[in-house]
Amino acid sequence: MKKLEKILKKNFFFKNDIVFLLSLKGEDCKKLFQKAREIKLKYIGNKVYYRGLIELSNNCIKDCFYCGIRKSNKKIERYFLNEKEIIESALFSYKNNYASIVIQSGEIQSENFSKKIENILKKIHQKTGGKFGITLSVGEQKKETYKRWLDAGASRYLLRIETTNKKLYKKIHPNDETHNFHKRLKYLKELQNLGYQTGTGVLIGLPFQTLEDLADDLLFFKSFDIDMVGMGPYIEHINTPLYKHSNLLLSKENRLELSLKMIAILRILMKDINIAATTAMQTLDENGHIKALMSGANILMPNTTPTNYKKNYLLYENKERTKDQARNVNKILEERVNSSGNKVCFGERGDSLHFFKRKKNPYLQ
Ligand code: SF4
Repeated sequence: MKKLEKILKKNFFFKNDIVFLLSLKGEDCKKLFQKAREIKLKYIGNKVYYRGLIELSNNCIKDCFYCGIRKSNKKIERYFLNEKEIIESALFSYKNNYASIVIQSGEIQSENFSKKIENILKKIHQKTGGKFGITLSVGEQKKETYKRWLDAGASRYLLRIETTNKKLYKKIHPNDETHNFHKRLKYLKELQNLGYQTGTGVLIGLPFQTLEDLADDLLFFKSFDIDMVGMGPYIEHINTPLYKHSNLLLSKENRLELSLKMIAILRILMKDINIAATTAMQTLDENGHIKALMSGANILMPNTTPTNYKKNYLLYENKERTKDQARNVNKILEERVNSSGNKVCFGERGDSLHFFKRKKNPYLQ
C-alpha cells in the first residue's frame, strides 16, 4: 500500500504524517480532499451554515506587521458603525434566515467599548427572540468582559493565534506586551473555560513559515480541543512592514492549495468542529469558498457590513467583496454552494457539534 493510503487510514496523524500530507501534489492532493469530504459527510453531513459578517470597526490598538488596519497605517479612514447600523445589519441576517452572525472588529479595550458591545448584544438577543447565534471576534479582553458578553447573548468567540511558532509570532508582531503570544493563549483558554464555543485560526503561507510550523498549528488545534477554526492564506498588504518579505512568498495558487490542504487535514483530525471558508480564500480564487467547502469546510460568512464602510476594512489587499457590486450576491452564492453538492441550511444556527460533545465529557470539565 502506498504511503498516502496508509496515512489516510490512520485514526491519528503524527507531525511527520501531516508534513507529508501538506507536501502532496496533483492526484494525491485530490485523494486527500476526497477523504476529507467523506469524513465531513459522515460526521456533519453536507450542510453549510451562514454567518452574516458585521465589521464593526477598523480601529485597532495593535500593530501586527501583516495587517492592513494596524494602528500605524495612516492611509486608511477609520470608522465605527453606530448602534443602529449594527442592529440593522444583524436584522438583515435574521430576516434572511442566516440564524447566526459574526461581529468582528480591530482590538479596542475600554469600558466604553465593552458597554457598547454588551448593549448591542442584549438588543440583538431581544429582537431575535434569543434564538440567534452570535460570534464575537473582537480580540483580547478582560475575563470579566468576556463573561459580560456571554451573559448578554454571545455564544461563540474567535481569537486567532495566527501561528503557534513563538519565534515566528515574534517576527510578525512587535516585540512588546501588547503582542504577547503567551497572553493570547491565556485569553483563548479563558474563553474556553467560560463556556464559549471557542475558535481560533492561523495564517497560512507567511514568510519564514515552514510546513512543520503548519503541522504544529494543526496539532495545537487538536490538543486545545478547539470548537471552530477560521484560517486562510496570508495575503500581503503594501502598507505593512511584512510586505518587504514578499519575495519569500509562495505563489497565490500555491498558498491557496496549501490552505485547502490545511482544511482537509484538520477535517480528518477534528471531524465534528466547524471550519470556515474564509474570505481570503475567495480573494485568491473566485471559486475559493467552494473549493474550501469541497475540502472539508462547512461555514460561510457573507458580508453584511454597510457597503460604504467595506472598503476601509482591508486586512489585506484586493479583498474579494470590494469588487462585489451585485445586489444578488447571496443568491449566486447559494446556487454555487448547492451545485457543489453541499446545501445551505437556512434557519439553523449550525453550532459546533464538537462543543456539545466536549461539554458532555466529564474528563474535559
Ligand atoms: S490583526 Fe487584528 S489585532 Fe492585529 S492589527 Fe489587525 S485587526 Fe488589529
